[in-house]
Amino acid sequence: MTNFHLLIIEWYRQNARNLPWRNTENPYFIWLSEIILQQTRVQQGMNYYLKFVNRFPTVDLLADADEQEVLALWQGLGYYSRARNLHATAKIISKQYNNVFPSSYKNILSLKGVGSYTASAIASFAFDLSHAVVDGNVYRVISRYLDIEVPIDTSAGKKMFEALAAELLGDNPPAIHNQAIMEFGALQCVPVNPNCGICPLAEQCLALQRNTVAQRPIKSTKIKTRNRYFHFALFENAGKIIIQKRIEKDIWQHLFQLPLLETEVALETDEIERILFENYQIKPISVSEPIKHILSHQKIHARVWKFEALPDQKLFQENWEVISFSDLIDYPIPKLLDRYFQG
Ligand code: SF4
Repeated sequence: MTNFHLLIIEWYRQNARNLPWRNTENPYFIWLSEIILQQTRVQQGMNYYLKFVNRFPTVDLLADADEQEVLALWQGLGYYSRARNLHATAKIISKQYNNVFPSSYKNILSLKGVGSYTASAIASFAFDLSHAVVDGNVYRVISRYLDIEVPIDTSAGKKMFEALAAELLGDNPPAIHNQAIMEFGALQCVPVNPNCGICPLAEQCLALQRNTVAQRPIKSTKIKTRNRYFHFALFENAGKIIIQKRIEKDIWQHLFQLPLLETEVALETDEIERILFENYQIKPISVSEPIKHILSHQKIHARVWKFEALPDQKLFQENWEVISFSDLIDYPIPKLLDRYFQG
């Protein structure tokens, strides 16, 4: 392991992408980038990062913002709990820490939406604290470099990889070491068909020597996907439509949507029409093509049913709101519906 650090640093100096959050030690900006980049590709996350930094250049401005504005700025990125945590955490930093981002690993880790990976990233990038990051890229690099057969999604595996990442970091400068190993995983030791022929670690890489690169890292389980069937109702009359705020602890919490009926299983069209009529006492005039939307553990199968009238007021649900269709743009809505309205 002795020259692992020197080899990846050298590689990093020659290959690193110039990303805006790498040119700062401002913990607020680094935290923003890390939350945005959870479950988001760098290219897509970049625009959102720039939007947030421009609109909210300091944490107190984000803390004081209206939640609806934060969600609207986040629109399209998905996993909206991240945006809500972002906003809630900004408020905590503003109140409890007097707008000064906490600088100890323990306090950073205590922030909402911040797990051990994100806390290590902020602690090392912003405060030069010696905490090794372990994200998906790091798991892959270490599991191949040392040819580890222990599954990464078990608690024993997690502990083992954290210990190995810390050992590889050693007394080296943590910020650049962590950046380098993550970037190395993202660009060089990629999940499928890495180009081992040009890899600076090739001589020492145990998985390459043992021909196990494609089998590393090992996972013990595949998470089951839940299918959900959404039937949205687009009631439209004289330029007015009905929207509904999602208040349940579920996906898209606090976003707005068209009134929704959900079924556990796929149903025939006439069966759905019957259920819609039972609930709204009016018949739909048309239905959209099926819209599929994949989330990390859920597959949403949606259709939008059009009605030429609004249901009787007494059938309205508590969280329904009548708005002008042209005002819909002011409401944060799930990407799935955005796609539907964009045609
Ligand atoms: S030799 Fe191949 S598998 Fe090993 S670290 Fe390099 S790119 Fe990854």
